[in-house]
Amino acid sequence: MHNLPHVFIFPLPLQGPVNCMLKLAHLLAHHDIRITFLNTHHIHQRLLAHNNNHFNNYANLRFQTVPDGLPEDNPRTGDQIPNLLESMEIVSAPIFREMVTAVPESETPVTCIIADGIFTFAAGVAAEIGVPLLYFDTVSPCGFWTYLCLPKLIEAGEVPFKDDNMDEMIINAPGMEGIMRRRDLPSFCRAKDLDDPLIKLVLKEDDHIPLAQGLIFNTFQQLEAPILSQMRNICPNIYAVGPLHTHLKTRVLEAETTTSNSIWKEDMTCISWLDSQPLRSVVYVSIGSLAIISKEEFLELWHGLVNSGSRFLWVQRQGSVIGGANNMGFETPLQLAQGTKERGCIVSWAPQQVVLAHPSVGAFFTHSGWNSSLESIVEGKPMICWPYGVDQQVNSRYVGEVWKLGVDMKDMCDRVVIEKMVKEVMESRKDEFLERADHVAKLAKASVSQGGSSFQDLDRLVDDIKSMRIRARAASQLS
Ligand code: UDP
Repeated sequence: MHNLPHVFIFPLPLQGPVNCMLKLAHLLAHHDIRITFLNTHHIHQRLLAHNNNHFNNYANLRFQTVPDGLPEDNPRTGDQIPNLLESMEIVSAPIFREMVTAVPESETPVTCIIADGIFTFAAGVAAEIGVPLLYFDTVSPCGFWTYLCLPKLIEAGEVPFKDDNMDEMIINAPGMEGIMRRRDLPSFCRAKDLDDPLIKLVLKEDDHIPLAQGLIFNTFQQLEAPILSQMRNICPNIYAVGPLHTHLKTRVLEAETTTSNSIWKEDMTCISWLDSQPLRSVVYVSIGSLAIISKEEFLELWHGLVNSGSRFLWVQRQGSVIGGANNMGFETPLQLAQGTKERGCIVSWAPQQVVLAHPSVGAFFTHSGWNSSLESIVEGKPMICWPYGVDQQVNSRYVGEVWKLGVDMKDMCDRVVIEKMVKEVMESRKDEFLERADHVAKLAKASVSQGGSSFQDLDRLVDDIKSMRIRARAASQLS
């Protein structure tokens, strides 16, 4: 074990990034790289609780934990992210530094750090111990590129927005000309002034990204080639290794038996419900692990789904409706109760990748989180996008306008619009979207097969990490 290179991985402690970085950790461990994976106590306990302790098949992959500094009862929903990051900078960062710098004599020294791009403190730690840092931002590259364009957008006076015209086209995001309107920029660009905590965090992240020796992305070349090429102007060394969940399956057969890394209990009853539904008849509905919606939005969505006449499988995550913890405070309208009984299935958390792969699912009504978007792309399922925050506004624009994989419902939550969009994707434009989704799914799968672009990029990442190890050993022999 001592001869293996040793990579220290530190993900942002949220469902999407942890799942994604765990997939990368498994792939690297499979290629004889020793991994220390740093979870927060909170995330680690939940992984243990909901994966029967089976989320690690590798002797050379071990876990360590740090506190995130938040009270245990903090819901850790999307609106809490600035608090989470602030608290981690104070509480977790010094412990991380200590762990990486003071590795005991008996253990392999760290040869490389892979950290979430928002962890700006990782750059200082990597420099202090003289090891390469690779930033892995698990949002979409198209979304991340708009983060990198933020200084330019501010300098040009495009952000903050000068008036309420959300359809004004954006000029100063190179490679996105003619695509992006104000409403398609990440949600934090809607802040009235530059004191917004997320804007400050993103600007700080932008300053630190060029300090990394490389950037890792969960995407594939053919999906985002123009964006990746823009990004290379800032950091030439880019590894596009996604879709990681499919990549793990194609490289590592045992991965078929690994768990989904869920931090909620998956309700498998929805799979038997799907088994009894006709081919491509069901809309799968989920707003991911962080989004929270109002009761009004919840009701509009429900009416829209029922009025569309489609069958639906709806994930109603606990705590995802503001003020809806114990009961919604309203009587369920008869029409909704009836429509749901006839055509719906509601669960609190689903095995999403299995659901999206199911032949009964015809489309995905999604909040456009990047993991969800990629999971849908791989399974060739068209999307109805209702973005909630950060990169999701960009993702939904790309799904609707650039990749033509579905429709973008951005900034509207009205039962009539929902009904119309579901009917568009499930009925009137069904063939057009399915054909396109099928084509892009094939590209995604080819990218992670032998010789594909993501396959090659992962090989290069593994080789580069191994050569870092050789360089580190040569340097220690010289001193
Ligand atoms: N997910 C799941 N079951 C659900 C809903 C979501 O397993 O019922 C998973 C989904 O497969 C994805 C992740 O949660 O991997 C959500 O990540 P994403 O980036 O899409 O959105 P976020 O939750 O970060 O907003």
